[in-house]
Amino acid sequence: MTFRRRALLLVLSVSWLLPCSLGSESAPDQVDLLVSGGTVVTMDGARTIYDDGGIAVKGDRIVAVGPRTEVEERYRAQQTIPASGKLVLPGFINGHTHVPMTLLRGLRDDVTLDEWLRKYIFPAEAKNVNQEFVRWGTRLAAAEQIRAGVTTFADMYYFEDAVAEETKAAGMRGVLGETFIDFPAPDNHTEADVLAYTESFLKRWQGDALIHPASAPHSIYTCSRKTLQDASALARKYHSPILIHVAEMKKEWEDSQKQNGMSPVQYLNTIGVLGSDVVAAHCIYVDKNDLQILSEKQVGCVHNPSSNMMLASGVAPVPEMRAAGVAVGLGTDGPAGSNNDLDLMEEMDLAAKLAKISKMDPRALNAKSVVEMATIDGARALHLEKEIGSLEKGKKADLILISLDEPNAVPIYDIYAQLAYALKASDVETVVIAGRLVMRDRKLLTVNEEEAMARAREYKKAITQSLATP
Ligand SMILES: [Zn+2]
Repeated sequence: MTFRRRALLLVLSVSWLLPCSLGSESAPDQVDLLVSGGTVVTMDGARTIYDDGGIAVKGDRIVAVGPRTEVEERYRAQQTIPASGKLVLPGFINGHTHVPMTLLRGLRDDVTLDEWLRKYIFPAEAKNVNQEFVRWGTRLAAAEQIRAGVTTFADMYYFEDAVAEETKAAGMRGVLGETFIDFPAPDNHTEADVLAYTESFLKRWQGDALIHPASAPHSIYTCSRKTLQDASALARKYHSPILIHVAEMKKEWEDSQKQNGMSPVQYLNTIGVLGSDVVAAHCIYVDKNDLQILSEKQVGCVHNPSSNMMLASGVAPVPEMRAAGVAVGLGTDGPAGSNNDLDLMEEMDLAAKLAKISKMDPRALNAKSVVEMATIDGARALHLEKEIGSLEKGKKADLILISLDEPNAVPIYDIYAQLAYALKASDVETVVIAGRLVMRDRKLLTVNEEEAMARAREYKKAITQSLATP
């Protein structure tokens, strides 16, 4: 290359660099929040990890993620959260639970599901569950979930309008489904009542920034074909999701074979319930054909390892589901009788270990996979992957900071393994949802947890009393 050509190339490369360097010299953009430093585990498509990262947040969205120096050069914020020495992750997504049941936590365990429901839960719910109960249970659950780094949860219960109000007040994101069940529920006694209630619930919360209202037909073993179809049609009228328990018990599968001549998944498909708006909890008794249906219909599935083990329900074929292209998230279920807490980090750990022991193969489900299930795949399972589940420009600013200054947190060789097998919910320090700080340095900012805990203790007395009297 001649000297002149080299000089020309130099001039050209300098001129290429100019706009960039000029840009960095111009005034930085003002944003609302900067997360400065720390190991940023983005969970983006390339699974990028920034060792000394930065995140800029404006309003409820992320405007930049990258190396700290680049983000800090470009943005100035009113508020900066120092994250050096910490892990920064997208908030965890609890894909299946019944949050007001925190007040029934530990009411009775170590019995069969049938006995638990018939002798304890249904009577306790019939005598105690009202709007007030649901409010306090949700408030307690919000405190517990925020502390555990959960920023979004999917719920199925009664008085879901009250669950939505409490969830919004706590600043959490929720996919909240009003339950359809073919017996008189604590809130709605007939199908006409629940249809009317759910329609006004869907209308009220449509377009809300945090609340995604949903319709939740309980299951094929508690809902008639008509109830399942009506609940689904109503959800679809309002472009809302449908939450349902699917193939969670062997008996459900056997009864479906007897009554419908097909599996629960095939039955739900045949009657038109399955679609890309459905979130199916459990999916334990699913065969190859079922997995193909779930994949083709783009049904989101939620695996609940604690619950499945505690109720001895069975083991969902998670590796096969993932291989079939099904989006599989993680859920706590419960919290009463089938967990009994709302700790999603524990579910990561158990999901990996349950898959390993059931296949007798430690490679069956690895650490990175379960972290995906708790974040980006959980978002896919809830059909919210365009909004949440990873730290990327344009997505909602739902993020958590995890302390690494703990005996159980050092040393680190592999970040995903640390997250799945060593770190605990109690290591979560700071939580931001939709750009708003809801916990800072382990202090909750949106929920009065002392009051919620005091109420829970009072509820225990009243519930125990109610079960002692006929
Ligand atoms: Zn459930």
